[in-house]
Formats: sequence, structure tokens, C-alpha cells
Amino acid sequence: ETIGAFFDRTVEAHRDREALVVRHQNVRWSWGELGRRVDELAAGLLTLGLERGDRVGIWSPNTSEWTLAQFATAKAGLVLVNVNPAYRRAELEYAMNKVECRALILAPALKTSNYLEIVEDLVKDGKLPHLKHVIRLGKEKTPGMLNFDDVATAGGNAEKARIAELAPLLQFDDAINIQFTSGTTGFPKGATLSHHNILNNGYFVGEGLKLTPEDRLCIPVPLYHCFGMVMGNLGCLTHGSTMVYPSEAFDPLATLQAVAEERCTALYGVPTMFIAQLDHPEFAKFDLKSLRTGIMAGSPCPIEVMKKVQSHMHMGEVTIAYGMTETSPVSTQCATDDPVERRVSTVGQVLPHIEIKIVDTEGRTVPRGETGEFCTRGYSVMKGYWNDEAKTREAVDEAGWMHTGDLATMDEQGYVNIVGRLKDMIIRGGENVYPREIEEFLYRHPKVQDVQVIGVPDPRYGEAVCAWIKLHAGQTTTDEEIRTFCQGQIAHYKIPRYIEFVPEFPMTITGKIQKFVMREQTIEKLG
Ligand code: ATP
Ligand code: MG
Repeated sequence: ETIGAFFDRTVEAHRDREALVVRHQNVRWSWGELGRRVDELAAGLLTLGLERGDRVGIWSPNTSEWTLAQFATAKAGLVLVNVNPAYRRAELEYAMNKVECRALILAPALKTSNYLEIVEDLVKDGKLPHLKHVIRLGKEKTPGMLNFDDVATAGGNAEKARIAELAPLLQFDDAINIQFTSGTTGFPKGATLSHHNILNNGYFVGEGLKLTPEDRLCIPVPLYHCFGMVMGNLGCLTHGSTMVYPSEAFDPLATLQAVAEERCTALYGVPTMFIAQLDHPEFAKFDLKSLRTGIMAGSPCPIEVMKKVQSHMHMGEVTIAYGMTETSPVSTQCATDDPVERRVSTVGQVLPHIEIKIVDTEGRTVPRGETGEFCTRGYSVMKGYWNDEAKTREAVDEAGWMHTGDLATMDEQGYVNIVGRLKDMIIRGGENVYPREIEEFLYRHPKVQDVQVIGVPDPRYGEAVCAWIKLHAGQTTTDEEIRTFCQGQIAHYKIPRYIEFVPEFPMTITGKIQKFVMREQTIEKLG
């Protein structure tokens, strides 16, 4: 089935129920209202002369227009290209030209960057040869650009008829979306995904949480990323649940307010987002008792943080999911009724209809309990990196297995533990050291709010362990105190040789910590 067909069924089934709440735009639409606006926009896009398979970019933080664009492009047979809100001029130019976008939907500006100016400049300099239409959000007019609201109302009966004719022609394995990865380990990669890929994944993630039309899901994660648009929007679409966006970009206070005031039953976030909420000075003010479940995912989820989310945020049925953009994204997830110990300490079991295996460097499946690379195969694996055969072949082997670059173990019952990224593993004097293990240990120190461990070059041991530590507000400590805390508790070679106390970590807009930047900065500092 296509996303458009599923969308129509949900609209029909839940017409009067709330579909979308966008708090910063005062938007509250029922499924009926959302359906009407999506159909309008789909027809409006056809007036621009866009053809099936054409790429339409969207460069915007979380807004109602984002969601309209997601479903309208699906119905019009267009490929939506999610552009990272953190991009600057050079990155935008690269992404637009790489995928040959014919239209770009554009928010005027985000706090840090004037999108309009960037696009105007690039167009003036002839740097975006494929781009025919720029569609800006907001009421004001900009010469040379269209207004989103005007496009949305431009479609007439002829275009509406064409949308209806198109519906049976669209195929479930058509490309629907080019999603860029987070850029945690370097330059983001554009993964081409089909209706089949992401609609199924959204459905099974929602099943894992037992979502129903009664559920109200708070989505503070970016829509440009699979966590928001697939696990969030498609999770809700496939279960008739309500999507609640607290703010344009993540804000801990706005998220807490949204959960409390909208009586949300579920909440998503990467670990850094949950940490920021739990640590917010006004945290205790909010009544979060409506929460039942949610997902923590995207990077290693510290057990201590998971436990606090269960007890302080009332998310008794919280789960961890593991996946990557290239696999739609989720491969494994805990069930809400798995034992608590498993739910806080593992990423769960394989999702229905996909396969997973953990292999050694020769590609042989390792015995249960042993560490190897996590591989997955099935409906969830992307069509490929856009226009990049060579990179696709590096990632997906001939038998269809996606090699994730993540190290994992699997126990007898099939529960998976993510040990860390292959690229982040530290080899110190021949010993494999997994940053995750040291991070988990240091989290137990009462003064530590957040900690990240990396390897830095060392003339004697090859690599040395370095910890960056963010302390709780008002706390101070010393290297010595931290090392003493480790003494006798973890093996001597895991005790950090270098310790940096920092106020923040370098982060992607998805809230993931960029260890490659930490490494560069540490190396520079150490000389
Ligand atoms: P890039 O590929 O551009 O460097 P990225 O890998 O962070 O960035 P995403 O596709 O957003 O881009 O994230 C997928 C990765 O996130 C996985 O490969 C894995 O390393 C990590 N990850 C996701 N979920 C979890 C989890 N529950 N526990 C540990 N790591 C996770
Ligand atoms: Mg990746």
C-alpha cells in the first residue's frame, strides 16, 4: 500500500478526531481538516508542473506545513527531500544539486540562520540550476518566490482529478523520500526510501508501543529526521493517534509544557533530550502523569537515564529502539511488556518481517553473547544512497544485508545490546575498549550529568581514553576525584587518561554527540 492510500483510510476512519497539534503555530486540526489541506496542497503542487518522481526539498524546522508537505508529496507521487535545518550555504547547495531538486519549500529563517537570504544568493549566483520553484512559508511575499498558502490553494478541479487518477498508478516501492543521515560521523548521506520501507516501519514501531487513536504522541525530535517523520508521523498515521509538536526545534521547557497541557500519553527523544528535561530547573512543576510510553533512541541510552524516565516521568512502558536512517529506521525495539530490566538495558528484539545477524570481521555469525557487527535484511533496507551506487554497495552486500557499522551482542532470547559504533571503538595497547561501558560507569557519579568517552592518539598505547564530562549545575570536581572514583571499580586501562570538564558537547541537530568533532578538538588541545 502507498502512504497516500493509507492516509485516506485514516482520514475516513477518524475524521473528527484530533490529528495534529502544533503548539507554536496554534494549529489544531482533525484528521478531516488535515485530509482536506493535504489534498489541496497535492493539487496545488501539480499546478507547478511537477511530475511523478520529481524531487521537492523542504528546509524547515517542525511546522504544520512540514506535515502537509510530507503527505501531499506522497499523494502527488513526488519525492520529498528532507533538508537538515542546521545546514548552511555550502551544504544546502550540495544537497539540492546532489538530488536535483525542482522545488524547495522554505521556512524564512531559523534562529541561527537566514534561509531566505541563503537561497536568494544561491539562485542569483546560478548555483541551483535544477531548482525551478521556491515556495516560502509565512505571510510575507518575496520577489521570485511563491507563497506556500498560495500554492496550497492554486489547484483546481483538473489537478484534483489528476491526483485521483494518479493514486492507483503509484507503486508501494516507488521512492517517496530522500532522508539524510544525522552527520554524527561525518558528512550526511542521502538514503532513498520507498512507501513500503517507511510505512511498514512506522506501523510496526507504533504496534510496539500499542498506540491507539486515544494516544497523543509528543514529537520534539526533528521532522527532517526519520525519528520524527517515520516513527512519529507515520507511527501516528498508521494508528490514528494524535501528533503533538511542542516547538520548532527541541526545547526542554516547551516539551514539558506540551506533555502536561496536552495530556500526552507518549513521548519521543534521544537521550540528550530526556537528560535536558529531567535536569530542567522547573521539571518538578509539571504534571506528567498522562504519560504511559515512549521511545528513547538514536544513541546509546544510559541505564540511569532510562530508570529516571520510568520513575520521574511516569513512562512505565518506555522502550528503547535501535536503527538507522538507511533501514527506515528501526531494526530492534523492546516490547512495552518486556521485563523492566531488559527494557532499560537492551534495544530489544528484532521487529517483525526483518532479519538480523551479528557477524565477525570475516562475515561469520558470532556465538550468542559475543560482540560483532550488526547486520539487517528485509523490507526495511533502503533502495540505496541517492545516485551513489558505489557507497550503496559498500553498505548493502549482494545478499541484501545492510552492514550498520554498529557493534552489538545478542543474548539467548534474541535481545540485542548495542556496544557502540565500530568507528568509536578505542584500541588501547591491543585491548578493545568500548566507550559505552566507561560512560555507563561514570554516569553513576553523583556530580556527573552527562559524559562522553573517546579515544585519542597516544604514542605509547596507540590510543588513550579521554572523557568529556558535563557536571550538574553548581557542581565542581577534579580529574583526581573522578579517577579515584574509578579505581578498583573498572580495569586500569579503562580509567580515562584525559578528563575535560565542558559545558556542552558538539552536537547534530538531531541531538547526537559528534565524537569526531570531540576528537579533533581534543587532539588540537593536546597539541
Ligand atoms: P551519520 O551516518 O551521518 O554519521 P548517524 O549514523 O547518527 O549519522 P542516523 O541514521 O540518524 O545517523 O543514526 C543511526 C545510528 O545511531 C546507528 O547507526 C547507531 O550508531 C545509532 N543508534 C541509533 N539508535 C541507537 C540506540 N538505541 N543505541 C545506540 N546507538 C543507537
Ligand atoms: Mg550512520
